[in-house]
Amino acid sequence: MPNFFDTSIEFLKGVGPQKAALIGKEMGIFSYGDLVQHYPFRYEDRTRFYRIADVHGDLPFVQIKGRIRRIETIGEMRKKRLVAHFQDESGEMELVWFKGIPWVSKKLKLGVDYVVFGKPAAFGRKINIAHPEVEVLTTQNEKAAFLQPVYHTSEKMKVKYLDSKALSKVLRQVMLLAESYIQETLPANITDQFGLIDKKFALWHIHFPGNEELLKKAQFRLKFEELFYIQLRLLKMKVSRIDKYRGQVFKDSALLTEFYKKYLPFDLTNAQKRVIREIYLDMKSGKQMNRLLQGDVGSGKTIVAFICMLLVVGAGSQAAMMAPTEILADQHYEGLKEHADKLGLRIAKLTGSSKTKARREIHAGLLDGSIHILVGTHALLEDIVQFKNLGLAIIDEQHRFGVAQRAKLWAKNKDFYPHVLVMTATPIPRTLAMTLYGDLEVSVIDEMPAGRKPIKTLHYYDSKRLQVFGFMKEQIALGRQVYVVYPLIEESDKLDLKDLMDGYESIVRAFPDNHISIVHGKMKPQDKDFEMQRFVRHETQIMVATTVIEVGVNVPNASVMVIENAERFGLAQLHQLRGRVGRGAEQSYCVLMTDYKLSKEGRTRLETMVRTNNGFEIADVDLRLRGPGDITGTQQSGVLDLLIADIAKDGQILQAARNAASDILEGDPNLEKPENHNILRHISSLKKTVVNWGRIS
Ligand code: ADP
Ligand code: MG
Repeated sequence: MPNFFDTSIEFLKGVGPQKAALIGKEMGIFSYGDLVQHYPFRYEDRTRFYRIADVHGDLPFVQIKGRIRRIETIGEMRKKRLVAHFQDESGEMELVWFKGIPWVSKKLKLGVDYVVFGKPAAFGRKINIAHPEVEVLTTQNEKAAFLQPVYHTSEKMKVKYLDSKALSKVLRQVMLLAESYIQETLPANITDQFGLIDKKFALWHIHFPGNEELLKKAQFRLKFEELFYIQLRLLKMKVSRIDKYRGQVFKDSALLTEFYKKYLPFDLTNAQKRVIREIYLDMKSGKQMNRLLQGDVGSGKTIVAFICMLLVVGAGSQAAMMAPTEILADQHYEGLKEHADKLGLRIAKLTGSSKTKARREIHAGLLDGSIHILVGTHALLEDIVQFKNLGLAIIDEQHRFGVAQRAKLWAKNKDFYPHVLVMTATPIPRTLAMTLYGDLEVSVIDEMPAGRKPIKTLHYYDSKRLQVFGFMKEQIALGRQVYVVYPLIEESDKLDLKDLMDGYESIVRAFPDNHISIVHGKMKPQDKDFEMQRFVRHETQIMVATTVIEVGVNVPNASVMVIENAERFGLAQLHQLRGRVGRGAEQSYCVLMTDYKLSKEGRTRLETMVRTNNGFEIADVDLRLRGPGDITGTQQSGVLDLLIADIAKDGQILQAARNAASDILEGDPNLEKPENHNILRHISSLKKTVVNWGRIS
C-alpha cells in the first residue's frame, strides 16, 4: 500500500495536474508529505481590530474596520498614486496604492464596511498603509480571532491564483485527510520531559493556530523535533566512528614534565589548561580523537598544540601540523622550533617550495622516526609522505580544509588512525558548531593571556579625517606603525583601486616626513613581498593596503589599524583585520572610518566592533545579521536547510535536543528498546526521503 503522505497533491480539490506541476517546480512540493511540511514563515495577527486613533507607525501589522469616504488619484506618470481616505469612528487615515491602480480603483466602493490589513507608516502626523489588503466585512472575518498563516509562494504561482491564502485552503483539505495518518515521531519520555505537544496537534496548530500560545507550543515542538533528528544523526555518526576506530593510548611522559618544569615560557591561562586536559583525556581513552579547538586570534592555540605534540612525541610517536598557507606554515615552524630545539627534538618543514633534496631527507626522516614533528602545508597530504608512526595530526584553520583532507590524514597511519585536532581562529557560534561539527568534540579557549591590553576601537565619520591623521602622527612620533586598509572586494575593481590610490596619495601628502608602503592584490608577488618586508623592518611607518594583510603579517610594533569605508566589510573580516594589531606590549587602536550614511545593519556592525573584542560575541551578532548561510564553511553543508528551526535564534532548543539525543543513544545505541520505537520508525521514513541517514547503520 502506498504511503498516504506520498500521494501526489494533484488529487486535491483546486489543484489538479497543471497547478501541481507548477507548485512542484516552484516550491519543491510534490506530495501530501511535502505540503504538510511547508510551514508558514510568519503569521498575521487577526486576533484584534485597531481603532484608527490608536494606530502608529511602529506597529508591525494592523487590522482595522472602517469605510472609505473618498478616493482620489494624485500625481502624474510614475509618481501617480491612488489614495483612499479611510475612516472609523475614531479617526481617518490613508490607504495608498502605487501599482495596479485601475484594478484597485474599480474594486473599491464608498460606504461599504471593509476590513483593512497592512503595515502602517507615519508621515509627519499622517498615518497611511501602502498596498493594504482590503476585504468586505463579513460575519466570519468580523470574529477576527485568528492568526493568519503566511506561506512562501512565487510570482509564477500568484499569477495562477496560488497565493498564500490559496495554499492555506489546500492545506486545510490535506490536514483534514491526514488526521488519522499522522504518527508520533518522538518517544513519550521526551515529549513528557520537555512538555512537547503531540505531533498531530502541533502540525494542526502550525497551519491553523488556535491562538498565540498554541502556536508557540506547536513551533517549539516542531523545532525540537527537527533539531533532535539532526543531532541524533550527527551523534550516531560520532558514536559509530568512535566504536570503529581505536586510537593509540598516550600517557604523560618525562618529556612533558621536562618542558613544564624548565621551558614553559609563561603561565598557561585557565582556558589553555582546561582544553589541554580535555585533549589529554581523549588521547588517553583508547579511542581516536576528533576535536575542534576554537580560540580567538592571540588566545594562544600554538602552545596548546605544542604541548599536545609532546604527549605524543614523548611516547615515541610523531606529530604533524598542517597550515593553509606557506606564510602560516613558516610562522608555525619558527614558533615551534624554538621550543623543540630546547628539548632536543627534530622538527622539519615541508611545503610546496621545499627543494627535492630536502624533501627526500624529510621523507626518510619521517619513515625512520628521526623527525619528531612535521610542519607544513597541503604538501604533507601527498601519498609519498609516510610516517613511522603518526600519532597526532593538527590542522590549523579548519575552514580551508574539508572532510576529505581530514580523511587523508587518517590514512597516514595504517595501524591506528592518528588523533586529529582541528584548530580555528574563526569563531563559530556554539550553536552553529554543534550543527556543523556535531560529529567533532569541541574545545574553546575563551580567555586571553593576562596582561594583554584590549584593542580600543573607535568609529569616526570621514569628516573627522584630519583628527584621525593627527592621532596617527602622535602614534608614529611614539615610534609605532600604522596600517590603513581599504576595501577591495574584487581585486579587479577599478573604482576601489582608484580609492586606494587616492587614499595613498593623500596620506603621502599629509605625512611628508614618513615613509609609506603600499600593498594590493594587483601588484607582482615579489613587489608585494618587498613592500611588506620594508614595513616589517620598520623602514616604513605606514602601510596602505587592501585586505591582503588579513592573514600572515605579524608586526608587533604596529599599534594602529585604520579601516576606510568600514561599513563595506563584514563583521568577521573586520575582526580578523583588527587582530593584526594588539600584538605588542603597547596599547593598540582600531579606527573605523565611514560616511554619515549607514544602513541599519552597517551601524550594528560598527557598534558591535566598538563594543567588544570577543570573537564569539561578534560571530553571534554576525550570525543574527546574516543568517547561517553566509558564514564561512557552512555553504557546502546541507545540515542548514532547516524547515522551521533557526540556528541563530534557537540555540537553547538545539542544546536541549542535543542532550536528549545524546541521552537516548547512551542508553540505547542501536535504538532497539521498545520505548524508542517511534524514533526508529521515523528514521526509516526519513531514509527514503531527504536526509541522508545512510551512514547510520
Ligand atoms: P593564536 O591562538 O592566534 O594562534 P598564538 O598561539 O600565536 O595565538 O599566541 C599569541 C601570542 O601569545 C604568542 O606570542 C604566544 O607566545 C603568547 N601566549 C600564548 N599563551 C600565553 C600565555 N598563557 N601567557 C602569555 N602569553 C601567551
Ligand atoms: Mg595561530
